[in-house]
Amino acid sequence: MAPDQDCMQCGRCCEKWGWDQKGVIEDILPWIEANRHDILQFVAITLVNGRRCNGGEIRIDDLPNVLRINYWIAPDGSVLHHCPFYRKAEDGKVYCNIHETKPRVCIGFTPWKEGIRDYALNCPACRNTAP
Ligand code: SF4
Ligand code: SF4
Repeated sequence: MAPDQDCMQCGRCCEKWGWDQKGVIEDILPWIEANRHDILQFVAITLVNGRRCNGGEIRIDDLPNVLRINYWIAPDGSVLHHCPFYRKAEDGKVYCNIHETKPRVCIGFTPWKEGIRDYALNCPACRNTAP
């Protein structure tokens, strides 16, 4: 296993993979409970009956009927090719505007740990483990 290395907030992974991702119920439940329409408006939900709707329309009672969750989709239904919560700051680092409640797929992305080795990404936090 590689030694512990922390994310350097270069933002490459968010730029490359921060969209066209699938979500899980555990992501959207706290957003619904906290009325985070600012996030839910960029979520597309497909229900088991095939109906597609915006995350802002979903209520807790609907969750058992959720078939698929997709990030990130504009409120008009068009697919976004960027993450709406990506922010490059003046210090040159990239910050996540929903860091405290970001999706599992983002929380789980720790390429400096074992299991994920995408050298094409050229993640600087993996520099010591590159071939
Ligand atoms: S590419 Fe690596 S260093 Fe850059 S933001 Fe992603 S995980 Fe962090
Ligand atoms: S939600 Fe945050 S961590 Fe996830 S892709 Fe967007 S900016 Fe990156």
